[in-house]
Amino acid sequence: MLARFVNSLPSGLSQRITKLYFRALIRNQREAHSSQEDHQYKNMDVKILPALQDNYMYLIVDKATKEAAIVDPVEPKTVLKAVEEQGVNLTTVLTTHHHWDHAGGNEDLIKERPGLIVYGGDDRIGALTKKVEHNTKFNIGNLNVQCLFTPCHTTGHICYFVTAPEEGNDSVVFTGDTLFLGGCGRFFEGTADQMYKALITILSSLPDHTKVFCGHEYTLQNLKFAAHVEPTNENVKTKISWSQDRRNQGKPTVPSTIGEEKLYNPFMRVTELAVQNHTGKNDPIDTMKAIRLEKDTFK
Ligand SMILES: [Zn+2]
Repeated sequence: MLARFVNSLPSGLSQRITKLYFRALIRNQREAHSSQEDHQYKNMDVKILPALQDNYMYLIVDKATKEAAIVDPVEPKTVLKAVEEQGVNLTTVLTTHHHWDHAGGNEDLIKERPGLIVYGGDDRIGALTKKVEHNTKFNIGNLNVQCLFTPCHTTGHICYFVTAPEEGNDSVVFTGDTLFLGGCGRFFEGTADQMYKALITILSSLPDHTKVFCGHEYTLQNLKFAAHVEPTNENVKTKISWSQDRRNQGKPTVPSTIGEEKLYNPFMRVTELAVQNHTGKNDPIDTMKAIRLEKDTFK
């Protein structure tokens, strides 16, 4: 409710309020919501850096060159510590969207590390140096980055699809507040039609093995809703017990894969009869609209 209220305010004002709110949160916080974790792939390394109450930042490293990029560095101190520990060369910031809990650390990080290239798809992003569009491509060392324009949660939201140079190797996608494990972001500045395009047209066409790293640890709440939408879906039940286990150990539930999300995430399943029947609609976009509306007030 707080998020919805704040995001309905004029942009400048809402950014200041969220900033104060999260500054207070950081002060009161004794330890991170999850442990840091390292995911080593053949050509890249993704380090999960928990931040604030339930946010995730991600340090992506090209193993061949040691060049690194950071996704949504809301806590620059944590980022710089990880960069130092790993001995990597941080050159790039990937910003998913302008909300303070994602973009709010950009300016402070730039003060510490002038010369960083800051990518994003929205002029409201602090310290932005390179505005990107759908299919904008660039590199982090030898790794390829492809920008996927996924407006809806905000009008300038970008997901970043990162692949190794040789085909068939691991691919990862950073989905910010568009796709969560088991759910999706609220439609603050967009429509069901846009979220349909983002989740079904764009993200669902990535290879099924693509690892999904999202912006928040919301998995258990999301899956509780998924179980409400599809009470007989065994994949939902299995993922709930696995996620419960992980959370009991203080471990992150990210990453999942695009293929997995298609099995239990109701927002990725709006073309499935089981999800459509729950809403009483027979059109996937109407179904998307109906389940998002229901989820907004689901307890
Ligand atoms: Zn957001």
